[in-house]
This record gives sequence, C-alpha cells and structure tokens, in this order.
Amino acid sequence: MTTIGKPHSNISSILTSDLAVYRVAIKSGNFCFGSLVAESGLVCTECGTADCSQRHATWFRKRIFDLCTGEVFQNVPILRARFCDGTTKSLFPAELWRGRATVSSVLEAVSSAINGGVEQALQQAVSAGDGDEPFSERTLRRWIKRAGDRAPVASATLNFPLGAGRPPVEKLETFLSQVHPHHLLALRRQWGFSILDVPPPQEPPSTATRIKPVPGVN
Ligand SMILES: [Zn+2]
Repeated sequence: MTTIGKPHSNISSILTSDLAVYRVAIKSGNFCFGSLVAESGLVCTECGTADCSQRHATWFRKRIFDLCTGEVFQNVPILRARFCDGTTKSLFPAELWRGRATVSSVLEAVSSAINGGVEQALQQAVSAGDGDEPFSERTLRRWIKRAGDRAPVASATLNFPLGAGRPPVEKLETFLSQVHPHHLLALRRQWGFSILDVPPPQEPPSTATRIKPVPGVN
C-alpha cells in the first residue's frame, strides 16, 4: 500500500501542516500574516502582489475529520485577507476542500482502495473511526474517479512524471505515492481550488457588456 506523504510540523509552513498543528498555530496568533498570505500564493489583481493584503476576518469550518486516524477537528479557523482591489479571499490550509474529510486522508483511502479493494478501504475507515461508516462505497468510487481524472493533470502542473503509456491505475498509484501537502497547496495556488473539488463553472464570455451604446441611436 502506498502512503500519502505526511505533513510535518514546520512552523514556517503553517498551511501545509497537519490540521492539529495548523489550528494551534492560527489560534495562538503567533504567526506573520504576510508570510501566510505569501504561502497561500494569493495575489491582488490590482497591484499583482500580496503586499497590500490585510487581515480581514476569520471563519470556522465546523467539523472535518481524518479518515485514516479517526481524528476529528472542530471549528477549524480559516483566515481571510483583503486586497486593495477590494476582494477578500480565504487562506485555505492544504488539507481543506469542500468535503468533510482531510484531503490527504481521502487520497489515502483512494490509495487503499486501488491496492486492496474498495471493501478493504471501507473496513479500514470504519476501524479508524467510531465504528460508523464515515463514507459510502458510492462516495469512495466517486473519489477514486476524481483522483484518477485529476492525477495526470496534477502531475503535469507539479512537473512530476507518471510514466507515459502506463495504465491509468498505475499512474494514479504513482501519483498517490508521491503527493505531499506541499503539492496540494501548490495545486490550489495554480488552480484556485483543491484537487478534490469540483472546478467552479467557467462563466461564458459576456458580449453584452462590451457593446458600447452609439450616440444618437436609440
Ligand atoms: Zn493590491
């Protein structure tokens, strides 16, 4: 079985730390906000840098859990930054996405499923948690599909080769054995969403706003 690279507790990389370490660091307030914005990779559309960023607000993710260890994180703080273009953006830690489990633990469940079968991955998650099934087989299959679809694109973005011509499942295995929270954060930086998230819909180009009224014509 492959193992997803575990985050380390280097205080200089708060956003890629384990969620427990991340939460303690944010709650302590003992960090440089500017460094955190720089780490997130967010920049202002007006000045093209993060120099204008100001701490705006904090919101909390109520509950997120690690499927591998059963650890539950309550009220995970997420800081927001305001830029001089008037926008506010969230500084997401690498482990967060729209789902209720950490990204690494979902990828680990996917890895377990492709190596030992879906049934085994479900069993492992049940024994790690409080005895309840933390996700359904259908959900797991959706995660496997999404990870499989994204792995080639992600590896191209991150510049680590998966071996051209190899079967998709082998490529996915290779990807899962190499990916680390630093990569997850880098992908979010490049894409604007996490590897497990559904990409936001592309807005169709609006032609109506580009048509200028002609003076004297009603
Ligand atoms: Zn700015």
